[in-house]
Amino acid sequence: MKQKPKSKEEVYTFVRMAAEHHGWVVSPDTQFVEILVDGLQENFNTYGYFLCPCRDGEGSRKADRDIVCPCVYSKPDIDEYGHCYCGLYLDPDFAASGRLPEPIPERRPD
Ligand code: SF4
Repeated sequence: MKQKPKSKEEVYTFVRMAAEHHGWVVSPDTQFVEILVDGLQENFNTYGYFLCPCRDGEGSRKADRDIVCPCVYSKPDIDEYGHCYCGLYLDPDFAASGRLPEPIPERRPD
């Protein structure tokens, strides 16, 4: 069944709630976050699920289940690097340090 399209504000709410649920913080880089939120909104309204905005999916929830935001790689990446692959969610200590996310290796297997 086709999902009801999400507004940008609904996607921001989703991102804030996901961060709160996991004990993370949303990146303070508001311009960058807006790009990622736009990507999540476009993906949700295209595929019906929050496909990671930094990855190419297959377009099927089953094939993409590991990269539905927050992806299964986010926790190990945040534990190891202080932020997820996209740099949307940050570990609170990383955020407090004032450091900014940098490119990290893709943890998803080929
Ligand atoms: S890398 Fe970050 S933005 Fe992308 S799906 Fe994982 S948690 Fe979401």
